[in-house]
Parts: sequence; C-alpha cells; structure tokens
Amino acid sequence: MIKFLDLQKINAQYGAEIKASVQEVIDSGWYILGNKVKAFEEAFADYCGVKHCIGVANGLDALVLILNAYVELGKLKKGDEILVPANTYIATVIAITKVGCVPVFVEPDEATYLLSTEGLQAHLSSKTKAMMPVHLYGQLADMESLMAFAKQHNLLVIEDSAQSHGAMQAGKKSGNWGHASGFSFYPGKNLGALGDGGAVTTNDDALAEMIRTLGNYGSEKKYHNKVEGMNSRLDEIQAAALTVKLKYLDKDTAYRRKIAQYYSQHIKNDKLSLPQWEETKHNHVFHLYVIRCADRPGLQDYLNVNHIQTIVHYPIPPHKQAAYTRYNNLKLPLTEKLSTEVLSIPISPVMLWEEVEEVVRLLNLY
Ligand SMILES: *Cc1c(COP(=O)(O)O)cnc(C)c1O
Repeated sequence: MIKFLDLQKINAQYGAEIKASVQEVIDSGWYILGNKVKAFEEAFADYCGVKHCIGVANGLDALVLILNAYVELGKLKKGDEILVPANTYIATVIAITKVGCVPVFVEPDEATYLLSTEGLQAHLSSKTKAMMPVHLYGQLADMESLMAFAKQHNLLVIEDSAQSHGAMQAGKKSGNWGHASGFSFYPGKNLGALGDGGAVTTNDDALAEMIRTLGNYGSEKKYHNKVEGMNSRLDEIQAAALTVKLKYLDKDTAYRRKIAQYYSQHIKNDKLSLPQWEETKHNHVFHLYVIRCADRPGLQDYLNVNHIQTIVHYPIPPHKQAAYTRYNNLKLPLTEKLSTEVLSIPISPVMLWEEVEEVVRLLNLY
C-alpha cells in the first residue's frame, strides 16, 4: 500500500532529536508556558517574518481567539459579516459563527480554488468588516490584490494559514500578509506536532497582547481575570517537538514541491485535471496535491484496488453540513461541484521516488 501520509515515518526522520527535546521537558517538571513554548514562538515568528507569535491549543482556537480579540478591542461585533471562501474546511466557518459573526460564503477562483477579488465586491454590505482568505491545499491566495481590496473597503484580513506554513508571495510568507493569521500544527499538517497545537501570528501589538490574555483565562496576572477568556495554550512537549521540526520544514517542503512538479509534468490523462500554480512564485507548499475527476468514486476505487491510498478534502462543504441547516439552501454550484470531484493523492516528505512513479503510472493507465 502506498500510504496517503506516513506520520510515523515523518517523525522518525528526526526521532532522536525530538525525543531528546521532549525528554528535557519531562525532566524539567515545567509543562505549561515555559521556555520551550517561548523558544518556539520566537523561532516561528522569525520564520514567518512577523513581530508576534502566540502558541495556542489548536488551529481552530487560533482563529477563534483572533476574532474574539477583535471583539474585545471593539473592532468586530456580533452580526458583522465576514467574507470566507465557501470551499474551506469547516473550522474557518466555526470560528466566525462561534463569536456571533456571520459568514458570507464566496465561491473560489475556478483555477486555484482560492478566494480572489474577482466578483468580491458584489458580496459587500454595510456590515462587512473582515475577510478570511484560506490558503487551501498549501497555496497562498493572491494576497497582494486581496490586501489592496481590503484596504479600499476598510476590512480586517485574517488568514487561515493552517495548510500553508512557509508559502510565499513577493518574498512575504503566509502569516505575515493579513492583520492576523491562524496556524494549525495538527499532526498531519506540513508542520505537525505530536498532538494538537496551533499559533497566531500578527504584527499588531495590542492584538497580540489580547490574544495572549484571552488564551490564558483572560488573565495577565495570575488569579486576576480582566476579560472572559478561555484555556488555549500550546504545551511544552508540543513546542519541544515543533522547534525541532521547524528546522527541517523548508527541506521537507522542497521535497513536496519536487513531487508536485513531477506529478504535474508526468500525469497525462484527459479524465483528470491537475492543480494550477505558478512555479516561480513559491506560493504553494503542497500540503495536498488535489486532482479532479468527474467520476471520483470510480477513480478512488481504482486507486484503492491498486494499493494507493487517497482522501477527499472535503466531501461536504460547510454550508451543506447538518451543523449549518440555516445555510443548507444556499446555492454555491462551483463549491458543490468541487466537493464531488476533488481527490487528494499521496504527497509527503517521506514518499519514496518509486512510489511517486507508481502513482503516475497508475493514473496514466486509468
Ligand atoms: C486543519 C485546519 C484548521 C483547524 O486546525 P486544527 O488544529 O485541526 O484545529 C483550520 N483551517 C484549515 C483550512 C485547516 O486545514
């Protein structure tokens, strides 16, 4: 079986170093908000090129905390509308509705599946206060044009960077484009922990301080709670593992990009459409390599029978979920079509080259 993603093998690459770093935490007796988290926050802020990184419990919390902090700071309020691509993972939408804001679902660009300024104007109302571009599959949305649009219409920009660690446009990385950005370190993400983890990045001092406070029970000083916060902290063990893995992220990404380039050059089959990206821009870190096929169930069965594991990202768009019956009647034809056609094929920093070639061979025979 060619695995979709072999997490055991990914972490085994740096196993000795990760174990040593985690052992230091165990031996220290200090497990929450200590030196490992501080060191990781500094290293990740530096990696993204931002002033602040705040470790949090997971990617969803990163987005929720950003929106909560804007509410506390008076920049967002209940009922405000937030533009969001309709074809995202549900976490982006949950963050919006959790704080009482209203998601305005926007169809993505047909070629990249990303939020773009094309047609965005039509979704604006007097209540629109923010947009949340999602760098889906690892590809950065066109942030130069989105930021210009946001500036023109006075919108906050919150990036969902959960899939795009290290993706760049014009030399500027994911997490450093918007007013704030949420990252996930879920084990399967390009920078993955040994459990849940996440972070917020921002260049805004007041926002950073509010997020730190909100994520720690609303307290800056122990037992003094100035806002109604929550408990959402990155823990020392996850930070220890992440600091080791961050050093190798660019190397791992380079290999992902090499596989993607090979796939795109060698998969030749009229029944399949391949992802579109500009190779020169370094704007795609290939968290996922997603192809499309009109008969996806047929293709997935064929690959499964031939020992290639695939996954669908995502089979049901947020507005069609049972959790969101109030949006079930919205018509978003492109998003709905994508959800029936997309298929993610294996890509990872530990795939053997024979496996990459085998995937191509079988797709060309389909
Ligand atoms: C993974 C993911 C999240 C949520 O991250 P968790 O750490 O699982 O909470 C949010 N948005 C997108 C696009 C994701 O892929």
